[in-house]
Amino acid sequence: MAKKYYPTIGLEIHAELKTNTKMFCSCKNDPDEEKPNVNICPVCMAHPGALPVINKKAIENVIKVGLAVNGKITDFTEFDRKNYFYPDIPKGYQISQYKYPIVLGGHLADMDITRVHLEEDTANNKHDRGDFSLIDFNRAGIPLMELVTEPHTFKDSEETAKKASKFAKELQLILWYLDVSEANMEKGEMRVEANISVSTDPKILGVKVEVKNLNSFRSVERAIKYELDRMTELLENGKGEEIVQETRGWDEGKQKTFSQRKKESSQDYRYFPDPDLPKMKLHEAFNLEKMKKDLPELPAEKRARYKKDFGIKDEDIESYVNDPVLGNYFESVALNLLPNRENIILASNFISNDLIGSTKVISEFIDPDLLSETVIMISNGELSSRAAKDIILVAKGFEKGKKIREYVKEKNLLQSNDAGALKEITQKIIDANPKIVADYKRGKENALMSFVGQIMKETKGSANPVVVKKLLLELLK
Ligand code: ZN
Ligand code: MN
Repeated sequence: MAKKYYPTIGLEIHAELKTNTKMFCSCKNDPDEEKPNVNICPVCMAHPGALPVINKKAIENVIKVGLAVNGKITDFTEFDRKNYFYPDIPKGYQISQYKYPIVLGGHLADMDITRVHLEEDTANNKHDRGDFSLIDFNRAGIPLMELVTEPHTFKDSEETAKKASKFAKELQLILWYLDVSEANMEKGEMRVEANISVSTDPKILGVKVEVKNLNSFRSVERAIKYELDRMTELLENGKGEEIVQETRGWDEGKQKTFSQRKKESSQDYRYFPDPDLPKMKLHEAFNLEKMKKDLPELPAEKRARYKKDFGIKDEDIESYVNDPVLGNYFESVALNLLPNRENIILASNFISNDLIGSTKVISEFIDPDLLSETVIMISNGELSSRAAKDIILVAKGFEKGKKIREYVKEKNLLQSNDAGALKEITQKIIDANPKIVADYKRGKENALMSFVGQIMKETKGSANPVVVKKLLLELLK
């Protein structure tokens, strides 16, 4: 019988915070600056004697994240020096937080959060210019939030990978909703690292591997799945090869992880409180109750509200939560249609099935009133949804205040339920197509659909397909 394997995962996610200036100096925090070494000063270049000053806005941003994930905002907090040598860290240490982070605990998606702390980003090493390296200090000292989750054991490699990317995605949404970070993974504004291990005993953790270089949700999912499967395979029939504690990168091209560096033991950073920075009492410095009250609606709340107030499909809810501009547009349409839920669902189907490809077009140009009016006409049977789609796509050209009803009349698009007029057209089309009639009589079901299609075309989509079908069945008897 196959052995059972227990995968365990913990995440470390860094996110650059959106502030005007850097963490400890007044240099501009501009992730889009392309010219190297322009947003720099003696503080972020580590000149001797330069003194750091705390950016209050960065602390406030981390507190907001802590409140949003229901973490505990600590009262006492301080900055520590994390000592290590690397060219991108000119002081020889990174200012970070060790014993007293800003946030303790919390929960998001399906994972518990250990802590959220604040630190400074490093400079950028450029190794791609030849046989030398360059350093750009624009990024050095940008406020960087670090969130660490508790270790979690899920069912298998696939579920673990999915939970990890779901967590990262939900965190990105929260950072967006709170407007505290751009959190663009491709640009490195949000960086996900996964600590994973596999064990045959749920009570003992296996050897830990850290996976880095994950710059999209897809990579997060694929790299974690790949690495857990690799580790399980080694446990199962390693032929003497063992899992070693190491850091592995993700090769996007090969879709494989690769060894970056082996860790003998965990590095000793000799953390100690930074003597250049004051200790902080957050409960005095911030009005936490007010901050909690002033939080914007968060993704989970939005999902619950859309479900309760509008009863639309989960899939639609997800597209509105991920694209709040589209969500707001849907809401303006839905508010016009309340309390008629059927119409709201119709409107939502319309937006997410027929119009989603042109979201920019709808949210920027088409008056939500026009769309709700259109939906009401569809539900009254005055307009077919096919004709409605055509109208909506030209509606952005409507002059302000023009009613959809006028346009529909003008273009002769009112859905025809008039059986008399339709009967004439239907008979005409039947007479013109003896071959299809023969097919139908021989039991070919799609012959009927071919007739419906032709009649819809003849009437420019204004015929009511239900009426047409009934007529056809009658006339073809
Ligand atoms: Zn600076
Ligand atoms: Mn860190």
